[in-house]
Amino acid sequence: MIVAIDGPAASGKSTVARRVAQRLGFRYLDTGAMYRAIGVETLHRGVALDDVEGIIAVARSCRVTFDHLPGEAVYTAVRINGRDVTADIRTPEADLAVSPVSQIAEVRELMVAEQRRLASEADTVVEGRDIGTVVFPDAPVKVYLTATASERARRRLGDRVAAGHGSEIAAVAADIERRDRADAEREVSPLRPAEDALVIDTTEMSPDEVVDTIISLVRAVER
Ligand code: C5P
Repeated sequence: MIVAIDGPAASGKSTVARRVAQRLGFRYLDTGAMYRAIGVETLHRGVALDDVEGIIAVARSCRVTFDHLPGEAVYTAVRINGRDVTADIRTPEADLAVSPVSQIAEVRELMVAEQRRLASEADTVVEGRDIGTVVFPDAPVKVYLTATASERARRRLGDRVAAGHGSEIAAVAADIERRDRADAEREVSPLRPAEDALVIDTTEMSPDEVVDTIISLVRAVER
């Protein structure tokens, strides 16, 4: 089974998707990490972020993989061609590099094919922007998580501080707004809820309340 979780930046997708996967014993697939890894590799190779052909060449020559401990739903590391980029993909530089990368149709085709292959191996909770609309339009459970802009900025600032990166709420809010606009306005696979997705405003909800809502949707389709 595929559980599709989409939504804008810092809407709580990762926290919730991980917990849902752990509770159900499903795999967790973080598709944002794949686009981030290509962005980080683009920077690493010194390819300019407006060099579309160069970025496509990077994506074609790379394989993004996730390390899992035996039996664990959640990954412990993200690698690109074997190089560990787990921390690198969460930096402000990676936030900037990912938008131009994720707008390129050829890059998306490569990523989507790999996402479908990975999710064919096991029941998977898949998190991203286009999972319910493009990658798995037939997923039996689709949710679209939202939260107010200020709540999302507050959550992302918490992630940044926990990762040891000092940051300011205004800068975090501006980055979230920039990325959401780029994701929503791009031509290929723009960010939007699937018509049959349940839209959940998580502003006033705890992660576990959101997790319980999603698990009850899964139980309903299992019946
Ligand atoms: O989910 P996360 O914030 O890590 O995603 C980073 C970026 O990757 C998004 O802003 C978006 O540009 C891109 N992305 C995408 N399609 C997905 C997942 C992420 O375009 N399925």
